[in-house]
Amino acid sequence: MKFDTVIVGGGLTGLVSGIRLMQNGQKCAIISSGQSALHFFSGSFDLLNYLPDGKSVSNPEDSISELSLQAPNHPYTKIGKSKFAELAQEAKNFLSGIGIETQGASNKNHYRITPMGIIKPTWLTMPNFAFIEDGKFSWKKAAIINIEGFLDFNPEFISEAFEKMGIEISLQYFNLPELNTIRKNPSEFRSTNLSLVFDKEDNLDILAKILIEKSQACDVIIFPDCIGFKNPEILPKLINKVGKPVYLIPTFPPSLVGVSTQLYLKDYFTKLGGVFMLGDNVTHADIEAHHVTNVYTLNHGNIPISAKNFILSSGSFFSQGLLADSKQVYEPIFNLDTDYLTDRAEWYHTNLFEKQNYQQFGVKTDQNFHGIKDDMPIDNLFVAGAILSGFNPLKEGCGAGVSFLSALYVAEQILIKEKTYESIAQ
Ligand SMILES: Cc1cc2nc3c(=O)[nH]c(=O)nc-3n(C[C@H](O)[C@H](O)[C@H](O)COP(=O)(O)OP(=O)(O)OC[C@H]3O[C@@H](n4cnc5c(N)ncnc54)[C@H](O)[C@@H]3O)c2cc1C
Repeated sequence: MKFDTVIVGGGLTGLVSGIRLMQNGQKCAIISSGQSALHFFSGSFDLLNYLPDGKSVSNPEDSISELSLQAPNHPYTKIGKSKFAELAQEAKNFLSGIGIETQGASNKNHYRITPMGIIKPTWLTMPNFAFIEDGKFSWKKAAIINIEGFLDFNPEFISEAFEKMGIEISLQYFNLPELNTIRKNPSEFRSTNLSLVFDKEDNLDILAKILIEKSQACDVIIFPDCIGFKNPEILPKLINKVGKPVYLIPTFPPSLVGVSTQLYLKDYFTKLGGVFMLGDNVTHADIEAHHVTNVYTLNHGNIPISAKNFILSSGSFFSQGLLADSKQVYEPIFNLDTDYLTDRAEWYHTNLFEKQNYQQFGVKTDQNFHGIKDDMPIDNLFVAGAILSGFNPLKEGCGAGVSFLSALYVAEQILIKEKTYESIAQ
């Protein structure tokens, strides 16, 4: 099997770089062993919320010079200040170009609400999700409406968060007889299954009637993210029938918005002609003179999968892109050089809420995100996303931003490289 580019890992990073390359005429395959971090997605992409020293960031574009001084190996430092701004705008345009209109901009963080009612800064928020700018709302009274017995959403905490911002809250619950079958098994009473009921056109009128009744004298409705999974048209129809805005708030996993974003990107990639090998695991590679020729997978055994270029986007420890034993942190496919602290006692802090050093461990790269093996860059292996070293996605609030920007950056590097080779060959 031969491709222009083979991508290892089909999370946000792999899918964004794959779509970008396919849009530019490349033939790509994504090999992905399983679910990605998108299944836990909050509905908002973070770009940069805090500097490594803990200082809060309101304008990510303006903060890159300071970040580069504090974190010389940060992926954003490698990308550089002006390219950072360009790629952040490109990321928003990329989503819009494939049909996902987001709220927010890279020169001004806004705020989102977590399922526990915590207000957090962020960059891009998915359509119809609650979005707070400058701590202000254009409305005064909101109805938070939950489904009886649905435990993956905490309306009490969320009410408190809104009330602290001066919004009057009416807390309401409802039931639908159609929900009783899934209610019998609490482990089935999750956002994805609720959505199967709410997505039915036959239930639209009754749901609209309930929401109208429960939100009288309220300007807006706040609803858990459990509608529109298989039928994205249903929410606009509901809003139209209810006659007032309905804003979604993410629930505990499974994240409906996350799973549907993963599926949407995957479908977009395959519609462009990309090959997505789900449930397959890349095990090892042939590397000759710092050049990768083939990768091998569990399902394909000895059959080599070859390409001109490879992208490694297999995620961090969470997705097993990085592994650790008692002595070392390693990358299991190409055995690339990794950045980690040699003293294992320094890997983590016993207080869960403190900065965890292991979050910053990852694969070493050069300035253009080539993977490094035995201190030498591999000329056709690019590394992107959560597997990169030098940043702390939790403490800096930059997880999706690093994934998105590095994915677009490496795709661009591959396209420039191949164009240069073509013009030399002519
Ligand atoms: C639980 C969780 C929730 C998060 N929520 C948010 C959020 O709401 N907002 C935000 O800004 N950031 C969030 N982040 C940060 C997150 O890291 C990035 O947003 C981003 O989604 C990471 O994407 P990725 O593609 O680099 O890695 P991943 O999403 O981890 O994907 C890596 C993929 O590679 C596959 N893989 C691994 N090894 C192999 C192999 N050998 N062969 C084939 N495939 C392989 C895995 O199965 C997986 O599908 C979250 C992170 C986690 C862990």
